[in-house]
Amino acid sequence: MNHRLCITLILLAIFGLSGCDRNEPVYNSRFLAFGTLTDVSIVGVPREKAVAAVEALEKDFTIMNHAWHAWNPGPLTRTNKLLAEGKRFALPPSVLALMRKSAILANKSDHLFNPAIGRLIRLWGFQQDNPDNWQPPDAAAVEELVQANPSMDDIVIEDIHAQCSNPWVQLDFGAIGKGYGIDLAIEHLREMGINNAIVNSGGDLRAIGARGGHPWRIAIRGATGAGILGFLYVSGDESVFTSGNYERNYLWKGKVYHHIIDPRTGHPARGTRSVTVIHDDATTADAAATALFVAGPRDWQRIARQMGIKYVLLVDENNIVHMNPAMARRVQLMDKNQSVEISAPLMQDDHNNNP
Ligand code: ADP
Ligand code: MG
Repeated sequence: MNHRLCITLILLAIFGLSGCDRNEPVYNSRFLAFGTLTDVSIVGVPREKAVAAVEALEKDFTIMNHAWHAWNPGPLTRTNKLLAEGKRFALPPSVLALMRKSAILANKSDHLFNPAIGRLIRLWGFQQDNPDNWQPPDAAAVEELVQANPSMDDIVIEDIHAQCSNPWVQLDFGAIGKGYGIDLAIEHLREMGINNAIVNSGGDLRAIGARGGHPWRIAIRGATGAGILGFLYVSGDESVFTSGNYERNYLWKGKVYHHIIDPRTGHPARGTRSVTVIHDDATTADAAATALFVAGPRDWQRIARQMGIKYVLLVDENNIVHMNPAMARRVQLMDKNQSVEISAPLMQDDHNNNP
């Protein structure tokens, strides 16, 4: 948590520097959401309106955190219990939309983004508030779960009803909930007449509009979580999400075990240190950052294409930065001597879709 706090403070310092504009009022506020600090910047509306908007968002996030929490009792834990029983049941409304979105994104990612592996995530110790004193699970227990192959395809959703054919399925929205929450927050801001804003949860964000006609300047976290790898500018409506192995992990007998699990092996994904993705909506960006982390330096381009992602930056275990051409055009790396590999174009317009 201290580590997160430190990263967020660095980011805030940067946003603070770039967020102020002489002509338009900028309102910055911060609260805790999904266990991490969330910063909201609102531009161009009277202060009272911005204060009320942030209060509304804080309430939204509290509700969402309760609805989608993977281990505190609530709608998702109840859903998981009913899924495991195999009966047909009415889904809680707060879980339904996220489940539908998750199923689509899981399929597009070849199930590398697989929110049905809640049991594996629990086994590795990441369904608890503080995994610091955890230790890796028994290899046989991991293998049993890999063989059981829980997936979103095991769940049939019909109108508001669901039924699951695989008792090993347990949902964990850790890789997508924050993204969907940010999308809903932006939608709510727009409903309140706010069209220039950033919602930034621990460095993952969606930005809409601009600040006094200028694009927002966004910092990309370094592969260790501390420091800044580079910068990019966003304007209009874009989300920037990073998945990194520094986010949640523990040390056991000299080895670090982190929280992004490769569903094919059942173990923490190898080969990647962090992935940053830019996409229109935050839900897709969040799921894609996790999927591409698992895909790794060899497979990220194929999965990015399948998921419709136009901008990717992946730092591999040797600290080499891999980017597609359009991403490379947008990113200013801090270290001019950084080893970089530019991939083949992801899409036809990968060369010139720079905003
Ligand atoms: P963060 O939000 O911490 O930056 P991610 O978006 O990558 O990171 O989400 C990681 C979380 O997602 C884990 O803590 C776990 O709850 C869940 N998770 C881990 N591996 C996977 C996976 N392969 N597919 C879906 N969810 C995963
Ligand atoms: Mg994610």
